[in-house]
Amino acid sequence: MRKNIVAGNWKMNLDYEKGLSLFSEIVNMVKDEVVGNQEVVVCSPAIHLYSIGKLASPVSNVAVGAQNIHQAESGAYTGEISASQVKSVGASYVILGHSERRAYFGETEALLTEKVNAALAHGLAPIFCIGETKEERESGKFFDVIKAQLEGGVFHLSGEEFAKVVLAYEPVWAIGTGLTASPEQAQEVHAFIRERVSAKYGEELANNTTILYGGSCNPGNAKDLFSQKDIDGGLIGGASLKSRDFLDIVKVFN
Ligand code: PEP
Repeated sequence: MRKNIVAGNWKMNLDYEKGLSLFSEIVNMVKDEVVGNQEVVVCSPAIHLYSIGKLASPVSNVAVGAQNIHQAESGAYTGEISASQVKSVGASYVILGHSERRAYFGETEALLTEKVNAALAHGLAPIFCIGETKEERESGKFFDVIKAQLEGGVFHLSGEEFAKVVLAYEPVWAIGTGLTASPEQAQEVHAFIRERVSAKYGEELANNTTILYGGSCNPGNAKDLFSQKDIDGGLIGGASLKSRDFLDIVKVFN
């Protein structure tokens, strides 16, 4: 059976001490309140990873992840961070393909393919984000966009490699905007994604693939979203910066 995951994306927020204190609160709340099998992942800025990784390691259902890696092994790439460096401080996930990186840093499918390969080569599970813009939704092209993002970013992988990937459907128009896809809109796309995965890798692997929803998910809408058949958790931006809100989302799976 596939795993339920609630992953926080802190983006470029929280200085070192504030990040540590938020993460400590999250870990304590997970220990006290989480009774299900869901996994809780926090994707922090690189400065926090080592310290929060240490706090996470004794807790079996909490993991940490990065928000980006460079595709190369190592070398003269000033300001960048590699998959092995991220892995070496205790991360087990990395967000790749986030719409902010596609839009503001020009990350293309070809580049993302290399980043996905680098992550997997170093034992990091990619949380691979896909999703359409407002214009693409309104023009009805969104299925084509999502299909192309899957094919361009992760469908080059073998089945064994793909099994380690977590997918996140994040409609760009819903990220940080307060607009959320309705449970029906999200389910429609999640079912489409699972069907594409099944066509490529077979039904068993498709049924075992975790597909997260992201885009203004909060404690008020998480239950309706996560109760959809093909929605296996969430990638949470704004609401992951408040421990109570984040935990209330996590606890939907209790
Ligand atoms: C995100 O950035 O991945 C995200 C889902 O953000 P928010 O929850 O703030 O819309």
